[in-house]
Amino acid sequence: MALDPVELAAALIRRPSVTPKDEGAIPLLAKTLEGLGFACHIVEFTEEGTAPILNLYARRGSKAPNFCFAGHTDVVPPGDLKSWSVDPFGGEVLEGALYGRGASDMKGAVACFVAAVARFLDAHRDFDHSISLLITGDEEAAAINGTKKLLDWAAKRGESFDLCIVGEPTSAKKLGDMVKIGRRGSLNGFLTVTGIQGHTANPHLADNAAHRLLKMLSALLAEPIDRGNERFPPTDLQISTIDIGNPTTNVIPGEARAVFNIRFNDQWTSKTLESWLKQKLDAAGGRYKLAIQVSGESFLTPPGQVSDMLTRAIGQVTGLTPDLSTTGGTSDARFIHHYCPVAEFGLVGQTMHKVDERAPVADLAALTEIYGAALELYFTKR
Ligand SMILES: [Zn+2]
Repeated sequence: MALDPVELAAALIRRPSVTPKDEGAIPLLAKTLEGLGFACHIVEFTEEGTAPILNLYARRGSKAPNFCFAGHTDVVPPGDLKSWSVDPFGGEVLEGALYGRGASDMKGAVACFVAAVARFLDAHRDFDHSISLLITGDEEAAAINGTKKLLDWAAKRGESFDLCIVGEPTSAKKLGDMVKIGRRGSLNGFLTVTGIQGHTANPHLADNAAHRLLKMLSALLAEPIDRGNERFPPTDLQISTIDIGNPTTNVIPGEARAVFNIRFNDQWTSKTLESWLKQKLDAAGGRYKLAIQVSGESFLTPPGQVSDMLTRAIGQVTGLTPDLSTTGGTSDARFIHHYCPVAEFGLVGQTMHKVDERAPVADLAALTEIYGAALELYFTKR
C-alpha cells in the first residue's frame, strides 16, 4: 500500500488537536495503521482535574523483537492567527514546504514513520516480527494522561519493547545533523524568604527580606553547579522572576519571592539537587521556604544499538554523521528509557511552536527514507 507522508501529515494537521483536544487525529492514525495490518487500541486516560486524553497503541505482529516508534499528535496553540501566512490547520504545501501547526512537531515525523512502515511491509511480505507505535495526545501540556500511562497500560498487557525511536524534531539546522540520546532534567524552585517588615529609616528594627533574597540567590549563582561531562553540558540555573511587589519607597519588605529553573545533567537527581539548594540557602542565612517542582529527571541511553542504527540510516540517506546530543528541553523519552533503549530523531526543529511552522517536503521524503533504512538495518541486516 503506497502511502504519501506529506498527504498523511497534511491530513493530521487538518485535525486541530491542540492539547487536550484530539479532533479526529488519533482515529485517523488508527484507521491508517489498521490498513497496514496493525492491531490498534485507542485508550483514553483521565484523572481528577484533568481533561480526558486519547492515546494509541498499535502493534503489527506478535513475535519479538518489537521495534517501537513513539510520538504525539497533540500540538501547541497556533498563537496569533494574523501572523501566519496560511491557515495553521490547513495543511497546505507552499513553495516546497508543508505548513501548519504540527508540521515539524511532530505530525510530520509520525506520518513519515507510518509511510516508512508501509514501504517496509510492502518490501517484506513475509515480515513476522513486531513493529509498534505509542502515540499520545498529551505531550505538549502536562503529559499526565499520555505516554507515562500508556507505557504502564502496555506493560500490564504484557507488551515489551526492544528499542524505541521518538520522532521529536531533533535536527538542528539540517535533517540528520542531530540525534538525542538523553535529556537534561528540569526542576523549578519556588523560594519565599521571610524577614521583618519595617520603616526604611529604622533598619535596626527590621529584617529586609529583599536583601536576604539577594544573598540567597547570589549564593546559588556564585559558582558553576558543575562543569558538565562528555555527554552533558553543565547544569544551569536561571532565575525566572523575583517578586516583592512593594508599592512604597519607605517600607522594608517582610517577604520576597523568586522562582528559578534548573536544567540538570546526569550528575544529579532532583533529590541530590534539592539537598544542594538547601545547603546553599542555609549557609546564606535567613528564614525561607523552598517548594520544588520536578518536570523530569535527567537520563542517558549511552551510545549503542539505537544510536548506531540511526547514525547508519542517517548516513545512508543524507551523508551526514549526526551529533549525539543531550541538549534541549524534556521529551517523552524520559518515560520510555525505563522500558527500553531509546533515542530521538526527527525533523528540523527551527519552526516548532512558532508562527508558520513548516517542514520541507524534501525533508519529509528523506525522513521517511531514514526511518525505512532504520527498519531495514534492524530487521534484515542484523
Ligand atoms: Zn514534540
